[in-house]
Amino acid sequence: MSGEKTIFKKIIDREIPADIIYEDELCLAFNDVNPQAPVHVLVIPKQEIQSIAHLQDSDQALAGHLLLTVGKLAKQLGLESGYRTIVNTGKEGGQTVDHLHLHLLGGRSLHWPPG
Ligand code: IMP
Repeated sequence: MSGEKTIFKKIIDREIPADIIYEDELCLAFNDVNPQAPVHVLVIPKQEIQSIAHLQDSDQALAGHLLLTVGKLAKQLGLESGYRTIVNTGKEGGQTVDHLHLHLLGGRSLHWPPG
């Protein structure tokens, strides 16, 4: 990872604004600036972890917490009919921000497979 702060680290540090909908000691959730569905939330760890590929065994509880947070937010946001959780990883995985993030998409019928 380069020394430059990612845009998500800047959001965590409140250096740039974001539409934050949830926060606890481990993570932050905010609306995606370019939503691909009526609900498009990003859940990120406060700890700087580049991607799934950079998770360590010691991050097990954090990784579980992120997933549980997605489930809780989906419920709060009324996504009873279903939703999709995506974690893009690396260049070919479509990851554009080098800070681990879980996309929570819902509020419309989602197609499969993705592009
Ligand atoms: P990725 O392609 O999986 O890395 O997803 C990065 C996501 O971050 C994209 O859906 C972007 O729209 C979103 N994004 C980038 N900058 C911001 C921001 O400043 N606020 C909220 N979302 C952002």
